[in-house]
Amino acid sequence: SRAALFDAENKVKITFNDAAGLEEAKEEIKEIVEFLKNPGKFTNLGGKIPKGALLVGPPGTGKTLLAKAVAGEAGVPFFTLSGSDFVEMFVGVGAARVRDLFKQAKEKAPCIVFIDEIDAIGRSRGKGQMPGSNDERENTLNSLLVEMDGFSTDSGVIILAATNRPDVLDSALLRPGRFDRQISIDKPDIVGREAIFKVHLKPIKLHEDVDPKKLAAQTPGFAGAEIANVCNEAALIAARRNKKSVDMQDFQDAIDRVIGGLEKKNKIIS
Ligand code: ATP
Repeated sequence: SRAALFDAENKVKITFNDAAGLEEAKEEIKEIVEFLKNPGKFTNLGGKIPKGALLVGPPGTGKTLLAKAVAGEAGVPFFTLSGSDFVEMFVGVGAARVRDLFKQAKEKAPCIVFIDEIDAIGRSRGKGQMPGSNDERENTLNSLLVEMDGFSTDSGVIILAATNRPDVLDSALLRPGRFDRQISIDKPDIVGREAIFKVHLKPIKLHEDVDPKKLAAQTPGFAGAEIANVCNEAALIAARRNKKSVDMQDFQDAIDRVIGGLEKKNKIIS
């Protein structure tokens, strides 16, 4: 079915408030919200609206969240496609899927098209290919380039893509008129972590000893996804302990558990 080809969300509820910290990135990406809301203001003076921007940063830092928030803030539909879905795809399917996505996006414009893990499609051509593997990924990348070149900047479709490996991307993707803007999304500092904690503490019944500042200080190196995970774990731990609210001890144990999980993951990778 069509729905299985990619995801489309018509009414996005996520806003910039949901993506905590990331102040610089928000400042840059706000421009895209303006383009979507009021394209005429820019094109009237002869300017060309950019086709897209690349969000660059480590996993779990809120790239998807921020892309979605752009759609939410502008009140436009959000189409999403993950690069990793294209791995091991039958010949012709990837390219057809990209064409179909853009066709629907143009019909629903103004809108955002978000390509997660674009490095899975957009890896430099001819590199890192397994001997004997088909070149379907290359076909998919070519069809993406053709689509990007084929629509005009006033079509109202803006493409955001995310990667944690900008170094492996085919330079064709980064050329003017394609992803010629990069927005970096870094892991949060202590102030950012506190802001992210505050977002994820909101739905939790908290004991009065819970202090977001202290939690931020205890989680150096954590990305937003790990902080969300800590908050959820803490609530589950407190429930298991039959508590009426979630206290600092529960959070401490949740942090230890998440650190344990991260260490295990790193061990498997290395
Ligand atoms: P990946 O590269 O792994 O796809 P990503 O950068 O796209 O990661 P998201 O999918 O946006 O990360 O983040 C995962 C989850 O982590 C979010 O749904 C949210 O719950 C939480 N999160 C991440 N960053 C933030 C943030 N800045 N503020 C609030 N929550 C965050």
